[in-house]
Amino acid sequence: MKNYLSPAIVNVKPYVPGEQPKDGVYIKLNTNENPYPPSPKVIVAIENAASSLRLYPDPESEELRLAVADFYSIDKDMVFAGNGSDEILALCFMAFFMKEKPVLFPDISYSFYEVYAKLFGIDFKLIPLNDDYTVPVEKFTIPNDGIIIANPNAPTGIALSADNIKKILENNRESVVLVDEAYIDFGGQSMVPYISEYPNLIITQTVSKSRSLAGLRVGVAIGGVHLIDGINRVKNSFNSYPLDRLAASGAVEAFRDVEYFRSTTQKVINTRERIKNDLIHMGFNVTDSKSNFLFISHPVVAAKKIFFDLRKKKILVRYFDKERIDNHLRITIGTDSEMDALLNAIKEVLDGT
Ligand SMILES: *Cc1c(COP(=O)(O)O)cnc(C)c1O
Repeated sequence: MKNYLSPAIVNVKPYVPGEQPKDGVYIKLNTNENPYPPSPKVIVAIENAASSLRLYPDPESEELRLAVADFYSIDKDMVFAGNGSDEILALCFMAFFMKEKPVLFPDISYSFYEVYAKLFGIDFKLIPLNDDYTVPVEKFTIPNDGIIIANPNAPTGIALSADNIKKILENNRESVVLVDEAYIDFGGQSMVPYISEYPNLIITQTVSKSRSLAGLRVGVAIGGVHLIDGINRVKNSFNSYPLDRLAASGAVEAFRDVEYFRSTTQKVINTRERIKNDLIHMGFNVTDSKSNFLFISHPVVAAKKIFFDLRKKKILVRYFDKERIDNHLRITIGTDSEMDALLNAIKEVLDGT
């Protein structure tokens, strides 16, 4: 049969998200969702918004941008709201990176960056992480028309300090530096306080992880007005209403209910630190994660074996069959009882080898 696809689409290799099992019998520690439900105020707001679904939503998501601006004490014109930060990343690639020189990002990072670069025909160069999986800040100096860094990085969980990101910003004043802060609320140092100081800084965040709303599909970008305007140019040439009424209303409350947000993120952090110590005692190497997942490897037992054995025990974690990290597992922090079940299952796997 004739190939009806556009040539640019024939060769893209789409991003593959972690598995979402339909039967629900698994302990799901594979896609970095929050184990706690969203704030009850979010649910009420979504229920209330349902009565207005006849009408199109606000194309500018003004109320949500205000809520985010209030949370950070910035101006709402420094905030863009979109349908998940994945979509915002795509808009940013179009707005800032479709130029001559390559975009730089670490060889081990969120794999969507490479997918977008290929989709939009953008040249890119991978900067190898150091052997300890830290980001080699000084290597982000080769000629480029854009840089993207996940902070904390995925799937390593390791964070860069604001001072180190400032070095990257200062070494690349001609390029937009996109800092993907999907996991920033679990212990990293956000760059939001520096958006006025660095006109080349754009930040993306999401309600999917720290605000327990992966199912709602809401993300934001934060940066100088000139950059937000650029993202809006793309958005308004692509989809005028990226955020539906339910999503926008729910996300507003997720940003307003600060107390709930702080208490659930702190619970995740506490569980992470406890499980990290237990895994170290069991002989695992565990990175210094500032995210809602742990990145671990065992000196003797192969990650792939542990992955499949855990799967048999109905526990899903993430395994990446990728050079340099193919002996690691990425394990999302669940509830304390889920994590206790995980530790028991891992003990059984190790004892059985
Ligand atoms: C989860 C994740 C995203 C995507 O977030 P959504 O808002 O759910 O699209 C972006 N970047 C990184 C590094 C992530 O882990």
